[in-house]
Amino acid sequence: MPANAPDSSNKSDSTDAETRLAKLKAEVAAFVAEKGFVDNPKDLSMSIAIESAELMEQFQWLTTEEAARVTKDPDLMDKIRTEFADVFIYCLGFANELGIDITSAVRRTLATNRRRHWPHEK
Ligand SMILES: [Mg+2]
Repeated sequence: MPANAPDSSNKSDSTDAETRLAKLKAEVAAFVAEKGFVDNPKDLSMSIAIESAELMEQFQWLTTEEAARVTKDPDLMDKIRTEFADVFIYCLGFANELGIDITSAVRRTLATNRRRHWPHEK
């Protein structure tokens, strides 16, 4: 690990409740720099879709009822967790590449979606 890489071994910030999004973005940026990856928005957007397909693959052929019970299968949950992380890592890298502030983007889109009418809305 490079000397300037964020320390991800700190046990006190190993959960969502304890970790700032900015720290995760910095950890992804450090990983990209460490590996010498040259990212670009096109490849990152495609990678998000590709990893999303790998996540969906874990549910392929399951019934809706079986899919609702995946948390009871530790091996499958490990695969799901890994593919979800792949998607999220690419999302963080995409945000880094384009300078997207995730918090404000999510809140802005949630506000827009609150004003939308959804087909199955109460
Ligand atoms: Mg994957």
